[in-house]
Amino acid sequence: MIASTAPANDLKRTYSVYVTVLLFGLIATSALIGVPLFGYVYGYTWLDWTMFVLLYIITGLGITVGYHRMISHRSFNCPDWVKAGFLIAGGWALQNSALKWGADHIRHHAACDQDADPYNAKLGFWHSHCGWLFSDQRYSDGKYATRLQQDPVVMWQHRYYTPIFLSGLVLPFVVGFLYAGLVGGVSCFMLAGVGRTFAVLNSTFCINSVCHLWGSQPHSHADSSRDSWLVSLLTFGEGYHNYHHTYQSDYRNGPLWYNFDPSKWVIFMLSLLGLAWSLRTANAADSRSSNL
Ligand SMILES: [Zn+2]
Ligand SMILES: [Zn+2]
Repeated sequence: MIASTAPANDLKRTYSVYVTVLLFGLIATSALIGVPLFGYVYGYTWLDWTMFVLLYIITGLGITVGYHRMISHRSFNCPDWVKAGFLIAGGWALQNSALKWGADHIRHHAACDQDADPYNAKLGFWHSHCGWLFSDQRYSDGKYATRLQQDPVVMWQHRYYTPIFLSGLVLPFVVGFLYAGLVGGVSCFMLAGVGRTFAVLNSTFCINSVCHLWGSQPHSHADSSRDSWLVSLLTFGEGYHNYHHTYQSDYRNGPLWYNFDPSKWVIFMLSLLGLAWSLRTANAADSRSSNL
């Protein structure tokens, strides 16, 4: 007699939802209450704020350039060591491994606004912003991860995701500790570790929520994606989301020279240094091309 694995899978799913709720509840509570309270009592130093800004930029670009444009959309190629650097930076953002992030994101493009879209904006702001993380809906169809699993650097980052993420919290603690002892370490950890993680999480979440609910649609009305220059300011250029959904493989999200898109500037600079090549730009064949 073959025992059914369905109850075991249901239990695993429920356990995973509880862990996610606990983890994100802890991060949100610490960031919204603990970080300001600690600042009120002890104050934050110039080093804490510098580390906050630096790590916001590094981890934000790890997501936008690394997880998004490089891994999910193959909008350019680069040496493995550059790829590994971006995936470590992206891992510090607590947005799961590039393998899981990329598979979810490719699914989002393939099934936008439908039941299979993890961030389905038709279900409202909360669900598309972060409610989807706490949903017990999990997808068994692994085809969206298949292409990513062929990449050894992606699989390496997936295997070591937990220590990579933790190192992003240990780093500000060590820097602060070396500067001002234990209180300095905790101080830098609170602002540049916990506060920064919460800030980057929410700026990324805005792309799935705000950029599917409010903004203009100058390029296509095929789905709910919208352009929002305001979100681009927070997300290194990812706010030009209507353009991105229309020309998914383009290494630029803001194609015009005056569009605020630091991610495209970083990729272009890397290409000038010989550290990135095969930069893809929009053409008819690229429009809504498959990412599988
Ligand atoms: Zn989208
Ligand atoms: Zn995308």
